Amino acid sequence: MNQLSPIHDLVVIGGGINGAGIATDAAGRGLSVLMCEMNDLASATSSASTKLIHGGLRYLEQYEFRLVREALGEREVLLRNAPHLITPMRFRLPHMQHLRPKWMIRAGLFLYDSLSRRVTLPASGAIKFTESDPLVPELRDGFEYSDAWVDDARLVVALAQQAQLKGADIRVRHECVSAQPQNGIWRVDLLNKDTGATETVLAKALVNAAGPWVQSLFSTIAPQREANEVRLVKGCHIVVPRIHSGEESYMLQNEDGRIVFVIPYQQDYSLVGTTEEDYQGDLSAVAIAQWEREYLVKIVNQYFHNKISQDDICHTFAGVRPLLANEENNASKVSRDYTLKLSLEEAPLLTVYGGKITTYRRLAESAMTQLKKVFPDIGGQWTETTTLPGAQFESMEALLRELKEKFGWAGEQRCERWASAYGSAAVKMLEGVRSESELGEDFGSGLCAREIDYLCAHEWAYNADDILWRRSKLGLKFSALQVAKLEGYLVGRRSR
Ligand code: FAD
Repeated sequence: MNQLSPIHDLVVIGGGINGAGIATDAAGRGLSVLMCEMNDLASATSSASTKLIHGGLRYLEQYEFRLVREALGEREVLLRNAPHLITPMRFRLPHMQHLRPKWMIRAGLFLYDSLSRRVTLPASGAIKFTESDPLVPELRDGFEYSDAWVDDARLVVALAQQAQLKGADIRVRHECVSAQPQNGIWRVDLLNKDTGATETVLAKALVNAAGPWVQSLFSTIAPQREANEVRLVKGCHIVVPRIHSGEESYMLQNEDGRIVFVIPYQQDYSLVGTTEEDYQGDLSAVAIAQWEREYLVKIVNQYFHNKISQDDICHTFAGVRPLLANEENNASKVSRDYTLKLSLEEAPLLTVYGGKITTYRRLAESAMTQLKKVFPDIGGQWTETTTLPGAQFESMEALLRELKEKFGWAGEQRCERWASAYGSAAVKMLEGVRSESELGEDFGSGLCAREIDYLCAHEWAYNADDILWRRSKLGLKFSALQVAKLEGYLVGRRSR
């Protein structure tokens, strides 16, 4: 069936961080927006990042001062706007004699501190490691600096919620299968992945925020227009049982010049990554290769006292960075900065290349500056000073206290998980619930029917993967049987 809708100002293709950021900003400035995502929100690169809100210390080596300054500024903005999803993190950088010299690291950290607007984050400094640290005994000198950590997939969901609150129409599991300009208006065909029905929507302007698919989508919807070349760079992570007990993360330098992070993850685990390699394969089947597993295990074992093996790997994930191609041979050195291209031929098309989780908000603001040429009357900047949904609380301590007072019977661990996942929205999710039994069936690790229903009703969750790997990371704890039971519940729920 093919129905025609009213004309939207903007259709945004892609429900990753950049599409969701642009949809939110545009809707808040008064544009009527529809955002379509062919799979789940953040199902591609935006859930496969290292999850750092960072300036990118190593980008200073590539003289990326603009990017680093902007990203450093965003740390404080995002820490303020979504403190349940974004938390400060201290990083330790052990020094190896034969790698980058101390003076270079010291100078880099000085610049890193100087380029930033630090309000809450402490400055960098030199440190000495002792036997009580988790590193091999040869490593005694090092440095410390601050950045922040983010639940990337949940940040995208929070943005989609904010866009919806501002009036945007969020279509998850809707693929843009074609878009054609006609008399200055885009006719966009959306395929509903669940029903198989196609719907045509109309838009005054189109945003291509398809991430790794940006180039293929561009050649489908605007074959006559001049295209930019994209370089796809794959990066992989492994998750292993916790390597060290402290709260801080480690930044490890490798002989090949790359950097690998070891980050405390979900209480019991460590996240190790990333690798970087050019990618030409199937974008819907990006996966870690054997050499990447070996590479990450090897570097951990070079630095840490606690040794790990391939058998310790309990989860892996891989993503593809959609970067703007340049002359650079080394994939690690291709710029991580973003570029926006507005083409006004026939009907306006804004294309997003590159970008980081950290700079999504600034990227969206730049997109609005470009779109002002199409919509001269749109509103002014607003996202810097507006908290995201779920961030309506005084402090994490006060929120946790409130949750424990109201729902303490659910157990401390669960209250903590709810606080950091949902922030103040946890209270809404649990409204009226007074006992364990009122939470409904427990599907494992405290994931109950009440929470699942909330995720389906308010966070666009559809299948078990959405819930276990993007709305939460409970997939790390679930057995195959528990996953099947959850999937069964979701299928039953949809047919109700
Ligand atoms: P995506 O998240 O890929 O979103 C694009 C979306 O478009 C996808 O969900 C896709 O399904 C959808 N789509 C495509 N075609 C269509 C269509 N036709 N119709 C409908 N939907 C469509 N950044 C940081 O700031 N900090 C980090 O620590 C960090 N670490 C990283 C580590 C790795 C390994 C990688 C790969 C990246 C990392 N990044 C990091 C960068 C960051 O993750 C990406 O720049 C960002 O997620 C890109 O977001 P996006 O919205 O452009 O793309």
